[in-house]
Amino acid sequence: MRLSQMLFVTLRDDPADAEIPSHKLLLRAGYIRRIGSGVYAYLPLMWRVLQKVSQIVREEMNATGAQECLLPQLQPAELWKESGRWDTYTKAEGIMFSLIDRREQQLGLGPTHEEIITTIARDMIRSYRQLPLHLYQIQTKFRDEIRPRFGLMRGREFIMKDGYSFHVDEDSLKATYQDMYKAYSNMLRRSGLAFRAVEADSGAIGGSGSTEFMVLADAGEDEVLYTEDGKYAANVEKAVSLPADAVASAFTTYEKRETPGTETIETVCKLLNCSPTQVVKNVLYQTVYDNGKTVLVLISIRGDQEVNEVKLQNELTKLAANYGAKTIIALTVPNAEAQQTWAAKSLPLGYIAPDIADEYIKGDKQVHPQFLRLVDKTAVELKNFVTGANEAGYHVVGANWNEQFKAPELVVDIRKARPGDRALHNPEQTLQSARGIEVGHIFQLGTKYSVAMGATYTNEQGEEKPLVMGCYGVGVSRLAQSAVEQSYDKDGIIWPVAIAPYHAIVTIPNIKDAQQVEIAEKLYKELNQAGIETLLDDRDERAGVKFKDADLIGIPYRIVTGRAIANGKVEVVQRATRQSQEIDIPEVVSTIKQWIAAAVGN
Ligand code: ATP
Ligand code: MG
Repeated sequence: MRLSQMLFVTLRDDPADAEIPSHKLLLRAGYIRRIGSGVYAYLPLMWRVLQKVSQIVREEMNATGAQECLLPQLQPAELWKESGRWDTYTKAEGIMFSLIDRREQQLGLGPTHEEIITTIARDMIRSYRQLPLHLYQIQTKFRDEIRPRFGLMRGREFIMKDGYSFHVDEDSLKATYQDMYKAYSNMLRRSGLAFRAVEADSGAIGGSGSTEFMVLADAGEDEVLYTEDGKYAANVEKAVSLPADAVASAFTTYEKRETPGTETIETVCKLLNCSPTQVVKNVLYQTVYDNGKTVLVLISIRGDQEVNEVKLQNELTKLAANYGAKTIIALTVPNAEAQQTWAAKSLPLGYIAPDIADEYIKGDKQVHPQFLRLVDKTAVELKNFVTGANEAGYHVVGANWNEQFKAPELVVDIRKARPGDRALHNPEQTLQSARGIEVGHIFQLGTKYSVAMGATYTNEQGEEKPLVMGCYGVGVSRLAQSAVEQSYDKDGIIWPVAIAPYHAIVTIPNIKDAQQVEIAEKLYKELNQAGIETLLDDRDERAGVKFKDADLIGIPYRIVTGRAIANGKVEVVQRATRQSQEIDIPEVVSTIKQWIAAAVGN
């Protein structure tokens, strides 16, 4: 392709609304153009990158025996009602765009395709002989994200590869899951990314497991905790660890103490001269179940620890049936305004004890009249602890479960693991923290959708069984941008060779010089003929401008038909290392061919 004929527009300055380097660079280098919030046009250079990523993904998927298909993006609401997800996906914080057609039928724009694929499986899979089966697609997804940002990282319209597998049992599912683990690792390695596979949250249904593939970068929205020995890595949402040991309490007798102005753990510990590990902290949450019922949740946890809201959400979902519901739709820390809607009298905030009376709740049809009291494991083990006295300005010290406080009934792990915590598999290892961009997620779904939608098969014994399912997603557009986030310098993008839009660019420093033009044209032709995807910068611009642009768009190899042509050579510059060398003109094609092969590992 000739730059003189391309839509080639680069910007000198950083666009105002871009925050992270990869977003700035893709805009500046003319790869993407913002059309609306979370909505981007992929311009020709970007489209080539996306097609290369898609091709790597496709090859790795096909190698596992999965088959490509294309599913509809317009999805009938009925299917989502069958699976029970319509309300959670379209109401409140739901992310599905929904619409009503001219026949007054409700439709959703596909954010994901479990419902569609399960309905196909229900109709078409009859027998164990058809299993296992794995279908995937590469397609635009729509999600009305609450905070679209960082360009392609979190768009409202983006490209995803999603795959769904069907099995007779968990063992077969696990085998495919392992294949996917390998396939995903291959995809990321081939795309030139530094990544880590981490244990991920599988939500309340638990499932038998899920792994996220994280591209390591400071701008990542996710926190990963891992150990140096390489034996443990998990998303902080899911991570488990051993907390630091609690300091033994000096309060041997139970007493109520006046502690004015000590609403925080820090201030009460200072006043009482104790460690936060000796305190039972009581944190209030408010949750709304899908039947509209509000439940006030009181969590008791050791004073130095924090609540992991993802773990909490999972516990609350597991308890949904107790409140006649299926799932939760909101989880918040109630502010003063929220408290007014349910509090019978004002709460002694900062001084709450695990046994605060249910009378504080003005129960009605919408609000459950009792606190749901959850006790984190860290709080259960404490002896002679400090906690609130249910009275503003007072705490109790030397308290014990089973004595002053009823023994905890619902004991859970809802503690946030932190860097520096000891690892479970080996307490000598401490957790380290890194930032990551989630580019892929593989998930053992089990029978959640097949049971809800009645997708069954007949086994060898002639019995009807629900299909066992897995699902596997890769954010193709997010992956492409995260490659930039991992690889750039002050001058621009440095594409990994395997996914660069072009391998090489031939730059003519002065297009008025007939010999420069002639050699460049010849090389341009030969390189392309040899399968080396090559650009020709034949614009009537100063050499400096051309070099700057080539650096900005990040093409791996630049060939300059400058002064060296007098000696039958051209200058060849490698973008990543900036190494420059003069190469005999007849050697250029074979040299670059070798470099590419070495870089993409073929
Ligand atoms: P996130 O937690 O980042 O919102 P998710 O858990 O919703 O992701 P999945 O539903 O598992 O993501 O989707 C599979 C993959 O699609 C993700 O691993 C990610 O790479 C990509 N993806 C998800 N949401 C977006 C988005 N809004 N923009 C771009 N890519 C996305
Ligand atoms: Mg999401």
